[in-house]
Amino acid sequence: MRAIRVRELGGPEVLRVENVDDPTPGPGQALVRVEATGVNFIEIYNRKGIYKSPLPYTPGEEGAGTIAALGSGVTDLRVGDRVVSFNLKGSYAELALVDASRLIAVPDEVSTHDAAAVILQGITAHYLVTSLYAVQPGDTCLVHAAAGGVGLLLCQMAKRRNAIVIGTVSTEEKAELAREAGADEVILYTKQDFVAEVARITDGKRVQVVYDSVGATTFEKSLQCLAPRGMMALFGQSSGVVPPFDPLLLLRNGSLFLTRPTIAHYAATRDELVWRAGDVLGSVRDGSLRVRIDRAVPLGEAGEAHRALEERRTTGKVLLVP
Ligand code: NDP
Repeated sequence: MRAIRVRELGGPEVLRVENVDDPTPGPGQALVRVEATGVNFIEIYNRKGIYKSPLPYTPGEEGAGTIAALGSGVTDLRVGDRVVSFNLKGSYAELALVDASRLIAVPDEVSTHDAAAVILQGITAHYLVTSLYAVQPGDTCLVHAAAGGVGLLLCQMAKRRNAIVIGTVSTEEKAELAREAGADEVILYTKQDFVAEVARITDGKRVQVVYDSVGATTFEKSLQCLAPRGMMALFGQSSGVVPPFDPLLLLRNGSLFLTRPTIAHYAATRDELVWRAGDVLGSVRDGSLRVRIDRAVPLGEAGEAHRALEERRTTGKVLLVP
């Protein structure tokens, strides 16, 4: 099969297509013929060595397709079933193995591309608004990178919970997309001081929760946007890793809470995975959650796909089609 192999850490150019042996499913595993795989920032962190992966490796975790083969002991799935997962290790390939208990059936009315595009970012947005901080009607939330993959889904889900949503974005085009996704107010954080803007928009009351995936460039200022006892959800670092900081900053900004979550801990059990995936795919099916696919490009263009994501040229989801 064809697969992307990373043999050294570095820039997008280290993502190269190679021919490798087809994998064989072991007990409890399924082999998935990948029709679309989602590009996520974690693969950029791995490629650069911010998160460690033993070399060489095939990147990717999120994908959808059909079951090509099953290992022993898997009784509830059949070859040919349409499935999706965010635990599809090595999904930048024509075939990938997964623990069968981490697969979700794709509803008939949802396309394979939409399923691949929404499963990781959708479940992320879902846990952020339901569990990490259960958004209440009337809450005000600040969503950074509101026109990004997670951002557009987060705006829609927070709005559906009757929150007031303030988004930040870098351009007017992105501002328009954030508004379409439900943001009540949008701040161009590349031009405006978002702390002052949040204070102005909220009449000085500030917000109950900040969803910050940008990290280095936004973290400290995000703390200043929170109301007393507010929740700082630092869930990514697309601008760089947040340096060590003084916990007294939490006190000075109002006895704040800080958490650095990962999806792995919010969809760890089969029950929690099925609940969140069911909500997300069900909302796509009934049209209440819109999935924006920025581009779907061949596997050989993985490098350019990474470059576009890193250079802030994408809105919504980037897919690779093996
Ligand atoms: P996005 O589509 O949001 O892309 C990143 C966006 O971040 C850019 O489009 C850009 O938006 C903004 N950004 C601001 N500064 C920079 C910078 N210096 N370089 C690059 N981008 C910048 O990506 P995803 O939706 O895929 O992921 C968003 C974040 O969420 C990532 O950090 C990812 O790791 C994290 N994540 C965390 C999960 C978890 O469970 N913890 C799960 C899934 C994702 P703009 O131009 O508007 O500023």
